[in-house]
Amino acid sequence: MKTLLSIFSLIASALFSVAQTTIQYEISFPNAVHHEAEVSLLVPQVPAGALTVRMSRSSPGRYATHEFGKNVYSVKAFDSKGKELQVEQTEGDVYKIAKHDGSVKVTYTIFGNYVDGTYLAIDETHAHMNMPATFMWAVGMDARPIQLKINDTDKYGWKVATQLKPSGPTGVFTAPSFQYFMDSPIELSDYKMKQWSDVNTNGKTQQLALSSHTSDTQETVDAFASTVRRMTAEAKAVFGELAPYDFGSYVFLHDVNPTNNGDGMEHRNSTVITQSAEKIAGNEKRLISTFSHEFFHSWNVERIRPKTLEPFNFAHSNMSNELWFAEGFTQYYGELVLKRAGIRDLDTYCGTLSGMLNYVLNAPGAAAYSAPQMSRHAVFSDAGVAVDQNNDANIFTSYYYYGAVIALALDHHLRTEFKLTLDDYMRAVWKAHGKTEISYTIPDLQNVLAKLTNTKFASEFFSKYVYGTQKNNYEQLLKSAGLVLRKASAGKASLGTLRLSPEGERLMVSSNTLKGTPAYESGIDNGDYLLKIGGKELKAAADVRTIVEGYNPGDEIEVTYQHKGLEKTRKVKLQENNALEVVPIEKTGGTLTPQMALYRSNWLDTKVK
Ligand SMILES: [Zn+2]
Repeated sequence: MKTLLSIFSLIASALFSVAQTTIQYEISFPNAVHHEAEVSLLVPQVPAGALTVRMSRSSPGRYATHEFGKNVYSVKAFDSKGKELQVEQTEGDVYKIAKHDGSVKVTYTIFGNYVDGTYLAIDETHAHMNMPATFMWAVGMDARPIQLKINDTDKYGWKVATQLKPSGPTGVFTAPSFQYFMDSPIELSDYKMKQWSDVNTNGKTQQLALSSHTSDTQETVDAFASTVRRMTAEAKAVFGELAPYDFGSYVFLHDVNPTNNGDGMEHRNSTVITQSAEKIAGNEKRLISTFSHEFFHSWNVERIRPKTLEPFNFAHSNMSNELWFAEGFTQYYGELVLKRAGIRDLDTYCGTLSGMLNYVLNAPGAAAYSAPQMSRHAVFSDAGVAVDQNNDANIFTSYYYYGAVIALALDHHLRTEFKLTLDDYMRAVWKAHGKTEISYTIPDLQNVLAKLTNTKFASEFFSKYVYGTQKNNYEQLLKSAGLVLRKASAGKASLGTLRLSPEGERLMVSSNTLKGTPAYESGIDNGDYLLKIGGKELKAAADVRTIVEGYNPGDEIEVTYQHKGLEKTRKVKLQENNALEVVPIEKTGGTLTPQMALYRSNWLDTKVK
């Protein structure tokens, strides 16, 4: 009996000691209608000295800094006996508790009313929680396990959707560590769910699920889930296997409402997709794009992970050189997978290629700066918030599209020069860095390419198109697939891209003009009013094109505008419209040869066997 007792007490104390280091969070929603939640975190076994707790300033998958601390108030702290402790706010989002008895409970109120992948949104229909925007954390305790108790779900009729592991009583979830907790968003709502399973290449069954917080019927959600499923199968075919999800399951946390902000945010075993639509029904083809992009991230970025994003720094944005690959190659595949799955037709896919080539090949940013340099600019551009103007129109080209056109070129170099494809390359990167979870650098990406092709090709490709600012010959590369890259308005005169918004009777220039265009040369600035072109008064934005197209490229023309109250007239030389388009050769009067048709099919048709 004694022996038994001591074994029991040993087991009990072992269990208890695990529980003793666990940081315990609790969240309640007494005032959901006004977007507030009450949060507490209990930090046991606090080492001697001050305890620092803080809100994050960044969030995995969003590369800019954010001030999540601004929505936190009424911060209090208590010791193990419930006695209130002194809290010093040392920075906007940092709180120091200097004196305590080894156990500290911090409580605060948080406000959130912005539905997307980055922030927190609470109302009576849901609590849509991105963790860094919701939960404070104890500094220096990253390795401790975390437990979260969610209250009030019955009160609002909410269910819980998350990649976190349910544990014990209802509403209790656990995370093995701080990093995992922060990467695990939660949607509390009366969502509709559709689950399916997929036997992975290793024989293990994995669960996938679509959880949609939407006003659609269950039938609509089920039907949409089958389209999502078709997409996941096509993405799986690129890598040859699904990513091994940590707890055997992956969930799309989908939220559809006209008041939402459109966004997609990838996580290890889930993704948050918020869409601004009335319903899924009728919008399926538009909505599926984000699903495809985010799901591809379960391989590329979540497991094929840039070294620069590891570990994730929640106090400041990580600086990454590799987003042209992590986001750009994902962007390329997001659309390609939809074409292969038959969710996009050829014309739509050509429209996608036109859009990205047109954007990158005519961008002043991409002409002057490399893809890694543009990746580093993410810390400012990825939903970064500032009140002053920037010159992004001239110095920044999105690494999504910059990277996507690099992927497009590499795919066709591999197809035409090596009898390989970009899928082969992605699988090689997956084997070397994804499956193994050995985070990569740009030289690692080059090494994988060198092993697949040869050292000379890999080093030339990287030095010209990745480290350098040279652009591939897309016209040549796309020819093999029977696609023609050409000027969309050949021979037509243009002032260059001008964004105009009507302001009363006048037209205001609403973005910076682009370097190298006649509009830029004429001195027209963001905020100016465009009055006349060629002496003719402008009434609507469409007049610009009509008037300018009455001239030829190379003609000189007078442009009149008002800058800060002063009227100016300048002479500028018109250019040929540089807009590009990709068109199937058979629609240009040319012939699609059998070789081209086969090449096109190998590239764009399904890979699901
Ligand atoms: Zn992405």
